[in-house]
Amino acid sequence: MHFKDLGLDPRLLKKLNHLAFDRATEIQQTAVPVAIAGKDILASSKTGSGKTLAFLLPAMQRMYRSKPFTRRDPRVLILTPTRELAKQIFAQLRTLNAGTPYDGTLIVGGENFNDQVKALRNDPMFVVATPGRFADHLEHRSTHLDGLEMLILDEADRMLDLGFEPQLRRINEAANHRRRQTLMFSATMDHVDVLDMASEMLDNPKRISIGHSAEEHTDITQRFILCDHLDHKQALLDKVLEVENYNQVIIFTATRADTDRLTAELNERKLKAVALSGNLNQTQRNSIMSQFERNCHKILVTTDIASRGLDIDSVSLVINFDMPKHAEEYVHRVGRTGRAGNKGDAVSLVGPKDWKSFKAVEAFLKQKIEFTTIEGLVGKFKGLKPAPKKKFVKKTTTNTTAAAKQTHAPKAKKRVDKRFYENQAVGNDVFIPKKKRNTDVSQDDQ
Ligand code: ADP
Ligand code: MG
Repeated sequence: MHFKDLGLDPRLLKKLNHLAFDRATEIQQTAVPVAIAGKDILASSKTGSGKTLAFLLPAMQRMYRSKPFTRRDPRVLILTPTRELAKQIFAQLRTLNAGTPYDGTLIVGGENFNDQVKALRNDPMFVVATPGRFADHLEHRSTHLDGLEMLILDEADRMLDLGFEPQLRRINEAANHRRRQTLMFSATMDHVDVLDMASEMLDNPKRISIGHSAEEHTDITQRFILCDHLDHKQALLDKVLEVENYNQVIIFTATRADTDRLTAELNERKLKAVALSGNLNQTQRNSIMSQFERNCHKILVTTDIASRGLDIDSVSLVINFDMPKHAEEYVHRVGRTGRAGNKGDAVSLVGPKDWKSFKAVEAFLKQKIEFTTIEGLVGKFKGLKPAPKKKFVKKTTTNTTAAAKQTHAPKAKKRVDKRFYENQAVGNDVFIPKKKRNTDVSQDDQ
C-alpha cells in the first residue's frame, strides 16, 4: 500500500516524496487511518518497522486539517524515555514540518532550562520531550496543555520502567480534556503496567498489534554463547569482533562502570570504541551520538540507555556483553540492527551471572534457545540448574493453642496467575485488566 492510499493531505504526501519510501509499512498502513479518524490507539509492532512515521503523519495531518483549540498551547506532545530518542524523533519531525508554520521544540533533561522556557514562550505547535523535564516545565508554568490535541507516548513501557509514572500522570491531568487524542506505541506492550496506564490515559482505544513482541525478528540472526567468567567473555568478544563482518556495532553492558571499563579495554587494542552512559553530561552525550552517527567510531559501548528507539542505519551487529535485567529490553537491544528490512546480527554472551536474566529472556521469547560455540573458546559452563522446589510439609495441629496461633499467623502471599493480565484484544477494543505496578529502575535518562 502506498502512502497516497492512507487518506493523507496532498501537502503531506509531497513532503513524504522527499523520503523516497516506496510503500507504507504494515504498522503505518494500519495505524495512520485509525489515528486520522481521531481514535485513541495502543499499538505495537516489531523494532525498526516505522512506528515513528505512524504517529508523526497523523499528527501533521491534524495540523493541516483542523483548527487549534487555543492560540498558544502546544497542539502535539510527544514523550519518549530518553533524550537521544527524543532528539531523533525531533529530527524526523523536522523532515515533515520544515517550511510549514507548524514548528516544534525539543525539551529534554540536561539542557539549559531557561532556554527551554524561552522556546516554549514562542508557542511551538509540537513539543518532543522526555517526561521528567517536561513535567518540570508544567510545574514552572512555562507551558500549559489546555489546548493539547494529541498526546503521543513512544516506548511507553520503558517510561514506566524508569519510574516516570508520576510525571506521566501529571502531564495526563494537565491535558485532561475530552477532545484530546492519545496514541501509545512500543515494540513491547503486554506488560501489566502499560495496560494499567493505558486504561487511565486512553479512551476506548483501538488495539493494533502487528505480530507479537516475542515473535522472532526474521531480519536479525540471533546467537547465544555460553561463557565461564569475565576473561572468557572478553576473549569471546574479541573473537566475535575479529571474525564478524560488521559496519558499526553496539555493545550493551549491565552497568555504567562496565561500559567504561570495556571501552577502555577496546581502545587499548585500537578498536575505536566510545562509551555512552548516563553519568556523562548532555553535551558529551550529544557529541558521542553525533560522532557515532557519522561513523567516527566503529563501536558504541552502552547500557540500556540506548536500548530503545535509536535508528542508526549502519549498525549491523549488536552484542549483549551482559544480558539485560529486564527481559523485554533484549528485544529492543537487538532491534538496534535489522531495521527497515535490512539484515542484522546479534550475539549474546551468557555467563553464570547472566543465567537468571537469560532464562527470563528465554521465557519472554517463548522458545528454547540453543547455544552456539566458537572453536578454541568452548568453556565449561553449561547453565545453572533450577533451585530444587521446597517440599511441602503438612503441619499437623493437635492442640488448640497451636491452632489459635495459626489463625494469627501472617497470611501466605496469594499467587497471581500472570496470564490473567496479558492483554486480550476484544474486537476492535482492548480489554485492560486492572493491576498495580511496582518498578525499581532509576531515572538517569530524564
Ligand atoms: P520503530 O520505531 O518501529 O523501531 P522507526 O520509526 O525508527 O522504527 O523506523 C525505522 C527505519 O525505517 C527508519 O530509518 C525510517 O526512516 C525507516 N522507515 C520508516 N518508514 C518507512 C517506509 N515506509 N519504508 C521504508 N523505510 C521506512
Ligand atoms: Mg521507535
